[in-house]
Amino acid sequence: MDLLEHQAQELFDKHGVPVSRNRVASTPDEAYAAAAEIGGRVVVKAQVKTGGRGKAGGVKLSDGPDAAREVASAILGMDIKGHTVHKVLVTEASDIVDEYYVSLLLDRGDRSFLAMVSGEGGVEIEQVAAEKPEALARLQVDPAHGLDQVTALRLVADAGLPADVCGDVASILVRLWDVFRKEDATLVEINPLAKLADGTVRALDGKVTLDDSARFRQPGHGQFVDVSATDPLELKAAERHLNYVKLNGAVGVIGNGAGLVMSTLDVVAYAGERYGGVRPANFLDIGGGASAEVMANGLEIILGDPDVRSVFVNVFGGITACDAVANGIVQALGLLSSRSEAITKPLVVRLDGNNAKEGRRILAEAALVGVRTADTMDGAAQLAAELAGKGA
Ligand code: GDP
Ligand code: MN
Repeated sequence: MDLLEHQAQELFDKHGVPVSRNRVASTPDEAYAAAAEIGGRVVVKAQVKTGGRGKAGGVKLSDGPDAAREVASAILGMDIKGHTVHKVLVTEASDIVDEYYVSLLLDRGDRSFLAMVSGEGGVEIEQVAAEKPEALARLQVDPAHGLDQVTALRLVADAGLPADVCGDVASILVRLWDVFRKEDATLVEINPLAKLADGTVRALDGKVTLDDSARFRQPGHGQFVDVSATDPLELKAAERHLNYVKLNGAVGVIGNGAGLVMSTLDVVAYAGERYGGVRPANFLDIGGGASAEVMANGLEIILGDPDVRSVFVNVFGGITACDAVANGIVQALGLLSSRSEAITKPLVVRLDGNNAKEGRRILAEAALVGVRTADTMDGAAQLAAELAGKGA
C-alpha cells in the first residue's frame, strides 16, 4: 500500500524524522484555518499518490490564510496524472538552502535492503541515476544488523554531502531505518531532504510503501487505507480475510490453493474464447482446510459481484478431502439462504483428489438447485464459460 505524503510524514514524525508542522485540509476553509493555526508563510500541497506534484502545479507557497484558501481552492479537485486531489496538506514554509535525496528500499533483484543518498535532491531521482550516476551513493543494509550512525555517516560522505549536514543526515537515515523496519515498509523516500537557512535538516516530502503482507502485525495501518478508492468487493473480502482480487470477466472463480486458482483463471479464459471472449471475474483462494463458513463467505462475495454470470468452484482435495469440501459447499449454500442471499447464478463444481468420489456423491445426493458438477477442470471451465456466455 502506497501512502499519501501526510501519512508518510506522520510515520516520519513518530520515529523522530524531523518534518514541518502541518495540517490536512479537505476544503478551502479548512486550509484557511490550518494556515492561520500554523502562522506565517505556508505551503499548500496536493495529496495524491504520484510524484511530480510540484511541476504539475500541486505545490504552492502562500503568504497567509487568505492566500492559502485561494491556492487550496485551485488545487482541490485538480487532476494530477490521473489522480484527483481530494485533500491538501498545509505545512509551515521552510527557507530552503539545499536539497538532498535519501531512501531505503527492498531491492528484490538483489534480495537485500538498499540505502541511497544523493546531494542532488528535489529532482526526480531516476533522472539523477541516468544522467549523473556518480551522484547517487548506494549501500546494502544487512537486515540483521540494521543501519547504525557510523555506517550511515560513511554513506552520506560517499554521496558528497556538505560536511556541516553529514551528521544530521546520517541520524535521519538511522531513524528512517526505524520507519522502514518497524513499520514494515518496502520503500521510504525523502525528496527533498532540505537544509534550511538556520542550518537544520528536515524532510519536506515523504513517500512510503507499506508491505501489505505484514498488515496482520500492523493493526495501526488500517487507518491508512483509502476506503473510497478500494473496490467495495475487495474491501468486504479483506474484512473476511479472504484472498480475493477483482478482475473484470463474468465467471466467478473459487479454488483452494493459489497455484490452482491461477491455472483456473487461465483455463477459464481459454475456454471462454469459444463463448464470445468470456473471462474470469476474480481470483479467490480459500486455502486448504476450507470450512463451510469460508466457502459461504467466498460465494457471498462472488455472487455479490454484478458482473458474475456463473461460478466455477475448483477444488483439489488434499489434507482437506473432497467429502469435507462437498459438505462445506452444501452447508455454505444453506448458510447463504439463511442470510437471505438468493443463489441466482449457476454453480459448476469440480472435485478431484482425495475422496473425490465421495464428494461428488454428497453433492449429487444434496441435489442443490443450480449446482452442477464436472469431472475435469477443462470440462468444468467449458461449462462455466458456456453458462456465463448464455447469461450475457
Ligand atoms: P513533488 O513535486 O511531488 O515531489 O512534491 P514535493 O513535496 O517534493 O515539493 C516539490 C518542491 O516544492 C520541492 O522540491 C521544493 O523545492 C518545494 N517545496 C516544498 N516544500 C517547500 C517549502 O517549505 N519551502 C519552499 N521554499 N519550497 C518548498
Ligand atoms: Mn518530492
